[in-house]
Amino acid sequence: MNKTTETTRSQELYEEACQVLPGGVSRNTIFRRPYPDYADYGSGCFVTDVQGIQRVDFANNMCSLIHGHANPAIVRAVTQQLERGTSFTLATEVELRFAQQLCSRSPGFDKIRFMNSGTEAVMAAIKAARAYNGKPMIAKTEGAYHGTYDYAEVSQQSGPSNWGDAAHPNATPVSLGTPTGALDDVVVYPFNDIDRTLALLDRNARQLACVIVDPLPHRVGFIPASNEFVDALRTWTTENDCLLVFDEVITYRLGFSGAQEHYGVEADLTSLGKIIGGGFPVGALAGKNEFMATLDPTQKIIPFPHSGTFSANPITMTAGKAAMEAFDREAVNKLNALGVRARELINEAISNSGAVASVTGAGSLFRIHLKEQPPTDYRSAYQDAVGAARTHQLVNYLYDNGFMMMHTCSGALSTAMTDREIEQFAETLESGLRQI
Ligand code: PMP
Repeated sequence: MNKTTETTRSQELYEEACQVLPGGVSRNTIFRRPYPDYADYGSGCFVTDVQGIQRVDFANNMCSLIHGHANPAIVRAVTQQLERGTSFTLATEVELRFAQQLCSRSPGFDKIRFMNSGTEAVMAAIKAARAYNGKPMIAKTEGAYHGTYDYAEVSQQSGPSNWGDAAHPNATPVSLGTPTGALDDVVVYPFNDIDRTLALLDRNARQLACVIVDPLPHRVGFIPASNEFVDALRTWTTENDCLLVFDEVITYRLGFSGAQEHYGVEADLTSLGKIIGGGFPVGALAGKNEFMATLDPTQKIIPFPHSGTFSANPITMTAGKAAMEAFDREAVNKLNALGVRARELINEAISNSGAVASVTGAGSLFRIHLKEQPPTDYRSAYQDAVGAARTHQLVNYLYDNGFMMMHTCSGALSTAMTDREIEQFAETLESGLRQI
């Protein structure tokens, strides 16, 4: 499956793309050197590129395709809706039915508002929290990715040269030109470190609108938040007139009611995205009546006015409803069991190969680290240039041998996968680890 030296169709397309798209791409996630491959079609857990090469898809469009590609039930439902119109300046029944479905899945969801991306869902959580308690600041985990809203992206690219003292990590910008006001309004706390986090929160208690936590933050290392840490955040926020926001854009797949069901806590607000769109662009903000009321347009003064041209469009709603119907308790448990099996086989591959590596993750998600011990937070998961180059080499080896991963060497399983793909992956991983 190695590429030949001849010009490939993807290379030709990429050269044209560079004329009209910055760097030739529409999103940096898919950029690869020397050029990204172009997809031709996907089916189940396989994607075929325009060169005709098929790979098993462990990236699943960045964890968003819970049933893999072109799931027949979703395709059928969406095709019917396409013929009846794709968006209206009216409400549709399907948004109501989908809202009912998600609210009945999660006890913490009294109400839900649909939107178009996870970025928007996190932004909406922050704005709703500010509107509710009138405070300006937010707290977030060092290194955690929550989309590209100025406040939410702070510290996402921190490194040893600028991350500062571990007891009070610096609020570093991502984009050049981020206003210092945005940075000043973000408290960056160290993941799973209760004492240091509570000290930081205490210091800013009177200004904090919300604390955001992703219970299995991808960029931090797919390391699960400890029960004690989540409990400490729940208690502190309740005592300090501050909202607890869960970013479950990725982790909603971890339980029938999302990751929250494993912690026995309910967030005040939850940001959703990815899998709930059934393969179409989506975001949602869900939570308790008291906090969701900030969006309610029946009030004389709306604390947080929110709109969006394509919010709750019937295509996304139809696809999401079909996808989540098929992701019932049985499907969730089966996929999580496949995830346990995947991490077992990955651990075996690591020990058979003798490589310095480890695996983290939970449920149907995993990340392979080229570190002897599984990291415990952003700083221990951080890779210097040499480490990053080796991870890149491993991701490329897997890609060239039929397995598409996320660039961090993370994988997200889909219900279209079986033991067979997991076993083949582990075999290929073992030879890849031997090579690097
Ligand atoms: N939150 C988390 C945890 C995410 O992983 C992502 C996307 N990777 C987002 C928010 C932003 O979602 P979107 O890309 O749909 O804007």
